[in-house]
Amino acid sequence: MESGQPGGRGLPRRSLFKAGVALAGAAVATTSATAVAEDTQDPDLGRDFDVIVVGAGMAGVTATRELRAKGKRVLLLEARNRVGGRTWTDTWNGHMIERGGTWVDRLQPHVWRELNRYELPIMADAGPTRAFMPTIGGFGEYDPSVAYVRQKELFTRFFDRSTEIFPEPFNPLKRRDLVAQFDGFSLRDRLNQMALRPEDEILLTSWTSLYGGTSERGALTLIQQWWALSGGTFEGFHGVNTYRPAKGTVSILNAMLAEAKPVLKLNSPVKSVVQNANKVTVTTRAGEAFTAPEVIMATPVNVWRTISFSPALPAAHQEATTTGVGVPHEKKLWIDLSNPTDRFVAEAPEGLGYPICFMGRFNDNQPVVAFSVDSTFDTTDGNAVERAVQKVIPGAKMRDYTAANWHVDPFSLGAGAYRQPNQLIRLHAKLQQPHGRVKFAGADIANGWNGYIDGAIEDGLRVAGSPTLSGPAAAAASAEERIVVPAVNRELYRGLGIR
Ligand SMILES: Cc1cc2nc3c(=O)[nH]c(=O)nc-3n(C[C@H](O)[C@H](O)[C@H](O)COP(=O)(O)OP(=O)(O)OC[C@H]3O[C@@H](n4cnc5c(N)ncnc54)[C@H](O)[C@@H]3O)c2cc1C
Repeated sequence: MESGQPGGRGLPRRSLFKAGVALAGAAVATTSATAVAEDTQDPDLGRDFDVIVVGAGMAGVTATRELRAKGKRVLLLEARNRVGGRTWTDTWNGHMIERGGTWVDRLQPHVWRELNRYELPIMADAGPTRAFMPTIGGFGEYDPSVAYVRQKELFTRFFDRSTEIFPEPFNPLKRRDLVAQFDGFSLRDRLNQMALRPEDEILLTSWTSLYGGTSERGALTLIQQWWALSGGTFEGFHGVNTYRPAKGTVSILNAMLAEAKPVLKLNSPVKSVVQNANKVTVTTRAGEAFTAPEVIMATPVNVWRTISFSPALPAAHQEATTTGVGVPHEKKLWIDLSNPTDRFVAEAPEGLGYPICFMGRFNDNQPVVAFSVDSTFDTTDGNAVERAVQKVIPGAKMRDYTAANWHVDPFSLGAGAYRQPNQLIRLHAKLQQPHGRVKFAGADIANGWNGYIDGAIEDGLRVAGSPTLSGPAAAAASAEERIVVPAVNRELYRGLGIR
């Protein structure tokens, strides 16, 4: 576990930094932005329920809302002191920040429909005015519209045939025959297959490492599916990282919970799930036991291995939780830079010693957001963080930062889901199967936007027996207009004809 000590370890300049490292699962002061739902356990409601949902992330809260609408008495058990899981709206130095999942888009129909249902405003990132892109000789500074022209050509080649392999992208095994040809490919295999010149390959590896954890580890088929879900265009693929709920991702959860009014118990990590012929007993680490004829496990796949199941999990579930499905070492940082202070984006290539693979300031007067998938990057060390920034932007000056380390968080044990080669055909369908009276849900096992907020909501609907969206229904949900604040400024892809 990382210490979270201000300033990091033992370097002389540490006092310059008011560094904060947030263990993603650690208790934090509740802020207005976090808006943690009230613990609504009512002792009079007893210990017997129609359904117990374990995990109050997007999937668990969606399933809870759906089941409550069907008249079920639902107990929602959450390990942390907040709802949201791998989404986490927080405040830091006066800024509302998202420590986990952030961006949502109209191409993601399930979350888009929720934003409309609850009339939640979204805001568009203004986007960078400068792009620092890798070149063979270091970093080059470009106008974003210029920087993305070559990248667009390369991405389009990289994703060749994706829409053919995933013709119905919310149904990933529709063309099982074609998927089978690519399922064993890693992102690195695809890069190798393209035999790119080095100056071209480094324009892709920031993304393949960020999404896959490493290019070797990540499966080609998942990013191909995301490309197909994005309409098979560079603009759609990058465009899904433009809009965010203006009141935080937690506003979606709070709206759902206000409607559903379940019995919600925070600070209640589940230790065991024991089934017998008629019911399931769920016991928390504190020793509280609850029963129901049905249980929905809406925790991350990687967390299943920390919970005792009786009877034991099926082989596919055991394999998935042991091997892991999430990006293994993702850290998300928020950095206050006194220089530069303008809006920029920087992408660093994989394998050349850059701890930060992607960073940028996308709105004026906001801190810089940065991502790292480097397992050796010590984010408790403020000097190491500043050096990592300076490797990309020489002369950058850091005042402060905060980091969320999702891989050491015991209630996620990894970041966003990202499948490994061969997991789609071998595991995907099996992981959605119930285990007796226990069902499973989450972005990690979703059909569509697997690894995204949208996938979590989709899978919460599926597990609760509610219809999910695809095809014309998805298109109709996406066509709904959402209130956008402030005005959209699409400088990022200026000239590329983006929505
Ligand atoms: C750094 C980062 C950036 C991301 N960026 C984006 C983005 O921009 N857009 C996007 O769409 N997606 C993004 N994602 C992915 C997205 O956040 C997740 O896919 C989604 O939120 C997962 O939802 P879930 O409900 O499936 O799982 P979770 O959110 O993980 O919810 C599971 C819940 O189970 C609880 N739990 C775990 N163990 C136990 C236990 N033993 N007992 C009781 N409860 C337990 C957890 O505390 C948690 O609340 C990002 C994720 C990360 C980490």
